[in-house]
Amino acid sequence: MRVTQLLAPTLREVPAEAEVISHRLMLRAGMIRKTTSGVYTYLPLAQRILQKIAAIVREEMNRAGGLEVGLPIMQPAELWQESGRWAVYGDEMFRLQDRHQRDFCLGPTHEEIITDLVRNEVHSYKQLPLLLYQIQNKYRDERRPRFGLMRCREFIMKDLYSFDRDEAGLEVSYQKMYNAYSQAFQRCGLQFRAVEADSGAIGGNASHEFMVLAGSGEALVVHCDQCGYAANVEKAEASPELLQEGLEPGALQRVHTPGVCTVVEVTTFLGISAQEVLKTLFYEAEFTTHRELIAVVIRGDRNINETKLLNRLGCLRLELASDTLIKKTTGASPGFVGPIGLKGIRILVDTEVPLMVQAVVGANQDDYHYRYADPGRDFPLDEVADLRMVEAVEPCPHCGNSLVQSHGIEVGHIFKLGTKYSSAMGARFLDEKGQEQLIVMGCYGIGVSRTMAAAIEQNYDANGIKWPVAIAPYHVIIVPVSFQDEQQRTVAEKLYNGLLKVGVEAILDDRLDRAGVKFKDADLIGYPYRITIGPKALKDGEVEVRCRITGEDFRLKIEEVVQWLADQVHSQLHGFV
Ligand code: ATP
Ligand code: MG
Repeated sequence: MRVTQLLAPTLREVPAEAEVISHRLMLRAGMIRKTTSGVYTYLPLAQRILQKIAAIVREEMNRAGGLEVGLPIMQPAELWQESGRWAVYGDEMFRLQDRHQRDFCLGPTHEEIITDLVRNEVHSYKQLPLLLYQIQNKYRDERRPRFGLMRCREFIMKDLYSFDRDEAGLEVSYQKMYNAYSQAFQRCGLQFRAVEADSGAIGGNASHEFMVLAGSGEALVVHCDQCGYAANVEKAEASPELLQEGLEPGALQRVHTPGVCTVVEVTTFLGISAQEVLKTLFYEAEFTTHRELIAVVIRGDRNINETKLLNRLGCLRLELASDTLIKKTTGASPGFVGPIGLKGIRILVDTEVPLMVQAVVGANQDDYHYRYADPGRDFPLDEVADLRMVEAVEPCPHCGNSLVQSHGIEVGHIFKLGTKYSSAMGARFLDEKGQEQLIVMGCYGIGVSRTMAAAIEQNYDANGIKWPVAIAPYHVIIVPVSFQDEQQRTVAEKLYNGLLKVGVEAILDDRLDRAGVKFKDADLIGYPYRITIGPKALKDGEVEVRCRITGEDFRLKIEEVVQWLADQVHSQLHGFV
């Protein structure tokens, strides 16, 4: 490719709309343009990068035994009604009607479509296991599309679905995908970590997320260097801290705390620490059949993990109750509510609550608190569960070593579905004994376009992107300092042709611009290697090569440079296979 023939309109200015580095750099490097909120046009460089990521993913899926299929984006409502998700998927689903007012959606995911295919085509245990996948656009009307390609309304996903005879088979498929994902992200040149993830009602070890580690990541993960435990904070188990061991219970005391509402105000007023306070929060939980007010009690210095609470309750949605509802139910404003004397309300307490002996709680009367509340004695401990967020510094729940917290970008997600869809939609097979069994399923997604953004978040500097070789738009850019100069031009063309011959993707900057402009663009776009052809080195029959990733400079003989670059590039491309 020649730069004069490329469409890569680079920008010097940082676009105001872009909040994260990958979004800014992709706009500046002329890779993407916004078409509308959460919908982007990929220009040629981005398209090449996306295709390279997709190719790596495709190879790894095939290696694991996956079969590629093409499933429709436009999906009939009937299938979603069968699975029960048409009613519950919510506002994220793009819905449309045809001329006969029949309902459709644009596929946010493909469990229904694939289960329909498999129930019609698979009948015998001999056809299982089966791994089917596709790489295709997905549509989700995200509440807040943002961060460029990170959270779009139209984005590229690889989704694979596994079909097995039983749980043991699913375990094998799941492990294959776990390994294939690790291999794919490693080949893309990314630093990542697989973490245990929330798996909703299914629970257990049914789900892992693959996180590209980057400070800008929306997700928080914890991991333990000692035993290898790693989890999304939404899922991470919290071990209860024993604080009041040996302390004797005291007599419950009602104290006047005028205008003292927040945990901080209570601790200051009473001269105690937040660990001695129990806060009570009220949630309205929405179940399929009804709504219910729930009280949750947790230590004053802890935060509620709403994912854990939602899973524990098994409800569809949760929201904090309004002040009015709290007042109507307890007789007090939110700052003065507590678990003592609460009637007719389900009370859930975090695992640390029963370990306390003397706690400060709201008295369910404005301007009053109780001191020396003894959980169990003064209020019931009927439902005790791990409901809190793990904190930044905390012992590993498995080995006690310190957990480390880091930010990550979720680029992949693998999930054991079990028989959720096969039972709802009747996907069965006949086993060896001729008995009908439900197919056991798993689903496995990789955000291809999000991976491109994540790669940038992990690999950039003040001048631009630093693409890992495996997913770079081109491997090498050749920059003659002055393209008008005949000698430079001749060497440039020779190297360009030489590189193409040995399978190195080269791009030649044949513009008549100043060298500085060309260098800036090369750094911004982030080609892994740049060959500079200038008069000084040419005198010695040499050119300069700069490695964008390490910043190293080399001077190489013109005759040697093609082979040298071919070795560099190929070792990085095939190093992992
Ligand atoms: P998130 O929690 O980020 O919304 P999700 O749990 O909804 O993700 P999945 O349904 O598991 O995501 O989708 C599989 C993969 O698709 C994700 O791991 C992510 O890489 C990608 N992905 C999901 N939503 C988006 C989006 N709106 N834009 C770009 N990529 C996305
Ligand atoms: Mg989502």
